Amino acid sequence: MDVSFLLRRTVQDARAVDGGKTAVLLDNGPSWTYEQLHALSDSYANALRKMGVGKGDWVGILLYNCLEYWAVYFAAAKLGAIAVRLNFRLSSEELEYALQDSDTHTLCFERAFLERLTSIRDSVPVKHYVCLAREGDIPEWCLPWDTLEHNEPVLSDPPWLSGSEAVMLMYTSGTTGRPKGALWTHNNTLWFATIQALKWNLQPSDVCMTTGPLYHVGALEDLALPGLLVGAQVIITKSGGFDIRRVLNAVEHNRVTHVFLFPFMIYEMLNLPDLDAYKLEHLKVIVSGGDPVLPWAIERLHEQFPHVGLVQVYGLTEGTPIAACLDPEDVYHKGHTVGKPMPLTEIKIADDDGRSLGKREVGEIWIRSPVVAHEYWRKPEATRETFVDGWCRTGDLGRIDEDGYLIMAGRKKDMIRSGGENIYPAELENVLIQHPKVRDVAIIGVPDPKYIETVCAVIVPQPGSDLSEQEILDYCKSRLAGYKKPRYVVFVNELPRTPSGKIMKYRLRDTYRSLGAQP
Ligand code: AMP
Repeated sequence: MDVSFLLRRTVQDARAVDGGKTAVLLDNGPSWTYEQLHALSDSYANALRKMGVGKGDWVGILLYNCLEYWAVYFAAAKLGAIAVRLNFRLSSEELEYALQDSDTHTLCFERAFLERLTSIRDSVPVKHYVCLAREGDIPEWCLPWDTLEHNEPVLSDPPWLSGSEAVMLMYTSGTTGRPKGALWTHNNTLWFATIQALKWNLQPSDVCMTTGPLYHVGALEDLALPGLLVGAQVIITKSGGFDIRRVLNAVEHNRVTHVFLFPFMIYEMLNLPDLDAYKLEHLKVIVSGGDPVLPWAIERLHEQFPHVGLVQVYGLTEGTPIAACLDPEDVYHKGHTVGKPMPLTEIKIADDDGRSLGKREVGEIWIRSPVVAHEYWRKPEATRETFVDGWCRTGDLGRIDEDGYLIMAGRKKDMIRSGGENIYPAELENVLIQHPKVRDVAIIGVPDPKYIETVCAVIVPQPGSDLSEQEILDYCKSRLAGYKKPRYVVFVNELPRTPSGKIMKYRLRDTYRSLGAQP
């Protein structure tokens, strides 16, 4: 069984009931019914097949949030191809790496990325570029989007797909410098959608809204695919600068019942002076994750919207996007935890050799479930290190309390969380150390009032050099996605190191902690 089962199931139900209900809708704008999405993804699949895409081939998606995103995703799935969901904030160098590493055969992209792609076109294996241009011309090396749309709306002879075949690849940054592609199978996705739908008790009458970019599991997987599974309506939001008012208008206008908000979005919402003006009486559940929701916000949410349950979740792209969940009824007495394991999910706290530790002992969080990814694409060593006997080693530290709730206790992996994105210092350090005027560098996270953490680069310039902050930022521009760029750059004479040469980052974090408190 493949993931297009999510569509087929409701198309069949919908035909029997009312001939098609809305499947996906963009903010308050255009929408597609289940039948339209099913037919369009068949049409896209027919076009991709003509271009030579078949089972096991890679179809890149580099699109802002839009309805077409869904059609490409399902079209690839129906052919047994693998959707490479690319973060549209990647720099040209990062994109080049991802396209080469994944061996992307056909790339479906938005015109806004033409410039970035033009500069790397000669060095990537992509055979076809299909361009979604809402305005303006496209160069002759691109195919227009119409190529996908005007085909037979029924896919003949769809391949038989076993659930263990890959359906999507998502790049997560790496602790060792280069991003790693986490490979998900059809089964991973179907299990995940089923577990979520059960856990949130989703009904066909529900309206699920996702606010993040569709390349992120927090957007597509957490609420949208489970919503499709039960035949609910799914709302996505336009990309390009998060706007809490737009989200609340859409929640009100579309009678949204379930919405995913990263913690910083909740804070923005609660800080609106006219929050009372929004009528959110249909909202039942806010799902939030990626970072803990701060206690003041939990309290304010409850005061302001007593009918809304806050569900806090913990997980990771390659583990399972939601491995543990704190139910609304536990928020008050267990608000300092990330809850209990999701259905069909095991969590253990392990020492460095993978041996389970006792209750209350701090160790690495390991996760096992049918949703755990199987491998990092073309990274056998990282795969061996992370995926052990069906377990995923998360690199997060935690402990289990006396009642079985998981408490986060920091990270073993050197990672910064900023506005819902992961930033791996090693990746930035690898880039910056190549600057001819940089002698040594350490990247640390400093607290940020809006994004939880932000990036600070502590740099030792080459002796006698006149390195400036602007030079550093310019250097990062084509090499790193904007959200990874250092917000603060400080120059020092040397970095504090242990006798064995390891940078003592905790010292740097202590020293520069107050930077983030600046307006
Ligand atoms: P991602 O792969 O982008 O989903 O990021 C996963 C990482 O985010 C995890 O490994 C954790 O370090 C962090 N994370 C996810 N959920 C939470 C949470 N509820 N509280 C604290 N950290 C979290």
